[in-house]
Amino acid sequence: MNKKVLMTVGAHADDIEYCFGATALKYHEKFKYEIVYVEATNNMSGGWAKIIDGKIKTFDYPWYTMMPQRKLEANQSARECFHTEALHLDFPQRHYKNRDLETIELRYGAPCPDCVPPNTPSILTAHEDPASIERVVNLILDKDPEVILTHPPMDYTDEHTGTCMLVRKAFTKAQSKGYDGSLLFARAGTYTLKYGNYFNTWDSFIDTTGFMGKKRHALGIHACQVARAEDLDLSDYLEGKVCGCETAEVFIVCEFAKKRTGEMTKEFAQNHQYCVEHWKEMFFSRDIQKMYNEELLAKWEERARQNA
Ligand SMILES: [Zn+2]
Repeated sequence: MNKKVLMTVGAHADDIEYCFGATALKYHEKFKYEIVYVEATNNMSGGWAKIIDGKIKTFDYPWYTMMPQRKLEANQSARECFHTEALHLDFPQRHYKNRDLETIELRYGAPCPDCVPPNTPSILTAHEDPASIERVVNLILDKDPEVILTHPPMDYTDEHTGTCMLVRKAFTKAQSKGYDGSLLFARAGTYTLKYGNYFNTWDSFIDTTGFMGKKRHALGIHACQVARAEDLDLSDYLEGKVCGCETAEVFIVCEFAKKRTGEMTKEFAQNHQYCVEHWKEMFFSRDIQKMYNEELLAKWEERARQNA
């Protein structure tokens, strides 16, 4: 009997919703999958977006204001949208803002914020710490998910990369203890920050047609980051065009389960086959490159101008 469990591991509050929110919603609502909602970092960093005179402005707050707010929003999204409790691994981020709103970056001799117990690795090096890997191994063995989704190893922030490495190492170790589920990575967000289009490829996807409204709603719960969810220029429509459906969330296959036969594994395997057969026109045609560069980046740049 296959357990219908999907484990999603995001580095920061709102990553789960951005990267695989519609996938999780579809499989939770349509196929009754239980969602394991895991936040890798302690979410102590970042600003608070607010709408002032119709424009989105981001304000700085110390870690002891940001951390509880981001966790509160993640907990609410987990409960309201995925009917589960958010699990916080609490690996510290690589910087935080102190009481005086100075940015304190992780360096030799940097002061430690009160929320971090001594001898804790940050999310950047948690994947080199046996005890930290073991925590994730135990979570995988305990929940026994059919599929695990997390960030890709190459991304625009090294906290995503660190999360990926931690999960990938734990996945391999869990396999040595009998675990037999799948691991896939979200597509990198690198194209948004002008690292080129090469990393903007994938070899499987989930058709998320019909779930975009709910994805947007879940994102909007992360209000300190997403001040106006209705305005987000989500790229799921472009990915849909590339994949031949209305909207899609796209993934990089790390390893497929050999024995599991759940609906999610089936869709991933079927769409993997589609990508294998169509990769040239999906990723290397001028039309597709143009679509990303002109449609999506132009929209984002316009949005940035509006808020400037
Ligand atoms: Zn993130």
